[in-house]
Amino acid sequence: MPTIMIAYVEQRQRLVSDGDAEHSDGGDAGQENIGALGVAAAAGDIALAARDFGGMVFIPPATLLRPSKTDDVVRAVCVARRSSRLTVAARGNGHSVGGQAMARGGVVLDMRDLGPPMELVRCGGVAADVPAGALWEEVLEWGVRNHGMAPTSWTDYLRLTVGGTLSNGGISGQAFRHGPQVANVAELEVVTGDGERRVCSPSLCSDLFFAALGGLGQFGVITRARIPLVPAPKMASDRRSVRWIRVVYKEFEEYAGDAEWLVTRADSEAFDYVEGFAFVNDVSDPVNGWASVPILPGSVFEPAKIPAVSEPILYCLELALHHNHREAAGVDERVKEMLWPLRYMRGLVLAADVSYVDFLSRVGRAEEEARANGTWATPHPWLNILVSSSDIADFDRTVFKRILRRGVGGPMLVYPLLRSKWDPRMSVAVPESEMFYLVALLRFIAPRAGDAALEEAVAQNREIIGCCRSKGYDFKVYAPHYESEADWARHFGRDWARFVERKRRYDPIAILAPGQTIFARAE
Ligand code: FAD
Repeated sequence: MPTIMIAYVEQRQRLVSDGDAEHSDGGDAGQENIGALGVAAAAGDIALAARDFGGMVFIPPATLLRPSKTDDVVRAVCVARRSSRLTVAARGNGHSVGGQAMARGGVVLDMRDLGPPMELVRCGGVAADVPAGALWEEVLEWGVRNHGMAPTSWTDYLRLTVGGTLSNGGISGQAFRHGPQVANVAELEVVTGDGERRVCSPSLCSDLFFAALGGLGQFGVITRARIPLVPAPKMASDRRSVRWIRVVYKEFEEYAGDAEWLVTRADSEAFDYVEGFAFVNDVSDPVNGWASVPILPGSVFEPAKIPAVSEPILYCLELALHHNHREAAGVDERVKEMLWPLRYMRGLVLAADVSYVDFLSRVGRAEEEARANGTWATPHPWLNILVSSSDIADFDRTVFKRILRRGVGGPMLVYPLLRSKWDPRMSVAVPESEMFYLVALLRFIAPRAGDAALEEAVAQNREIIGCCRSKGYDFKVYAPHYESEADWARHFGRDWARFVERKRRYDPIAILAPGQTIFARAE
């Protein structure tokens, strides 16, 4: 099931077991000043804060705190500032894959309990004031159920926190039209590294506002976000509100050409969602092959419909159209018109009508399957890259058709985005070209595959990054994880000096988000 994302993980971090973690060097340094926070860390809390979805890095903090209000965050940051070594990491839902929300021997803030509850605000338009530790699925449920309203831009998977995705980008199939989540924020409340609570927006403390968006947690702990809302898609009389469609392509050039055409249509002619993925041309592979194409569980292709083509990799464009009051016949007609110019293999069309909430929650169902088969608990060496449209055909030939011709044990997303939807004042780094693709290699390792499978996946990620570099692609890793200053400087390119200056301004002794390994805390 397509989802999205993540980071470049190298195995250079020290891997320790849970048991080792208690005895690692992190604990000692962290005892200093922890007493001032008035908490003793329970072993279970330390274990939670020492791991993430990636499952490859285990870094114990000195303690885990559960702030329930912004003042608790202010206090933690102030205590760390007064100490000689403590650092502070906000932990959203821990869905990073390379230890980005960890703090060796420091203070981890579990943001999930932060209040107050969500609130509808009228400020020109309608918006929601949302605590940063809220999950996007909570925002969806609250907005639709209480107000019939919802944000416009999502992630594929909704059990991520608002503060976590706003610190990275927040990308899904709506981003071509509405921009990523970081481009859909009206105001933030942030506790900066000097212990100050600040409210910022495009017109108030705008430098901090844009610094925090995609800022990898470096400039402040986001405690509240104001997210604009629009009416949720209207339902037809049968309560369905989204037509969800998949069409299959043999040729990458046709797939990419159609996807690029679709994301540049005027709003009145555009789908509401455009994504897509590459998959292995293998009828018998239940994970990487044709079985990944059907939309709803239980639906399968008739084998007769699967063409005998020899390409190792095929492509599936995934689209959605909101019904907006149209009855089924009206939707059928509109979809037919919109699909007509596309060059997919005729006959290979799948479609389902679902509710808006069900559509947006689709990856939650994939999570249930992964939990049941054990792959949610195994390591996830995910890699997300943004690759310029001018390099994507070569990327397809080199990476999908050669390095990844047997798949990654999970979705391989590849779909276009528009640079004009990303405000250059934000911290997040994107390629230079106006159109670029999100390539998300969402690797799942089978429970009994052993260390060799993980090592092979990590080596493949390294090979892919090496290939992007050696071929001179215009690319950026999304939700990156580097450890050397040279790599970070290369990642941010000409914006590196601005990033360093913002760090000096908002977190002068580098207390915040040490797990990103960009800056070292000053002694
Ligand atoms: P964490 O992993 O807990 O934190 C991430 C970073 O942000 C850390 O450095 C942390 O210190 C910092 N941080 C967290 N909260 C705050 C805060 N309140 N203030 C300041 N800094 C903070 N991304 C997409 O764009 N689109 C997707 O569709 C998508 N799908 C995903 C699906 C899965 C199953 C997974 C595991 C990840 C997915 N991601 C996706 C990636 C996801 O956006 C990032 O991993 C994100 O950081 C996870 O959010 P989190 O709340 O778990 O943050």
